[in-house]
Amino acid sequence: MKKKHFDVIVIGGGLAGLTSAIHLAKSKLEVLLIEKNEYPKHKVCGEYVSNEVLPYLEFLGFNPFEFGAKQISNFELTTHNNKSIVANLPLGGFGMSRYEMDFQLYQLAIKNCVSVLQDSVVDVNFEADNFQVKQKRIKVFKLE
Ligand SMILES: Cc1cc2nc3c(=O)[nH]c(=O)nc-3n(C[C@H](O)[C@H](O)[C@H](O)COP(=O)(O)OP(=O)(O)OC[C@H]3O[C@@H](n4cnc5c(N)ncnc54)[C@H](O)[C@@H]3O)c2cc1C
Repeated sequence: MKKKHFDVIVIGGGLAGLTSAIHLAKSKLEVLLIEKNEYPKHKVCGEYVSNEVLPYLEFLGFNPFEFGAKQISNFELTTHNNKSIVANLPLGGFGMSRYEMDFQLYQLAIKNCVSVLQDSVVDVNFEADNFQVKQKRIKVFKLE
């Protein structure tokens, strides 16, 4: 890791961490993202994302349809004895594997100059106006 100074340290590179990191980096902040797992990684998830977030993803520079996302506009519930109910989803959403979505957001974070460290955070301390973030692999980052 070459950079020593960071304005923000984001702990955890799931959807919240990755989108925050990209957003902050787009605002010209030096961001360090610490994620304990290696990308790409699997995540248990229903993998339905509401279309409500599309304008925000577009602002971040992420188009899920470039990476295989499929539009979903109907909901169907079936029972074990083959009965079903179907409803339209007025707003709709898209289906996309979290393996792919998190990985593509990670790539976008790198493109936006986010520094990504694969490590597990074990402790965060706030003392004398400073944050200290401790990882499993010894190194300590300070936010002053
Ligand atoms: C079974 C299930 C189905 C779901 N289905 C849907 C769905 O269909 N649609 C939907 O919108 N939402 C769904 N969700 C919710 C969705 O998964 C979460 O809202 C979303 O993942 C939350 O994002 P996050 O970034 O907060 O957390 P996560 O995506 O869980 O990310 C947290 C990240 O932090 C990392 N981390 C944790 N501890 C540390 C540490 N100490 N140091 C470094 N890194 C660390 C983890 O490895 C992980 O990558 C579902 C959730 C579950 C459990």
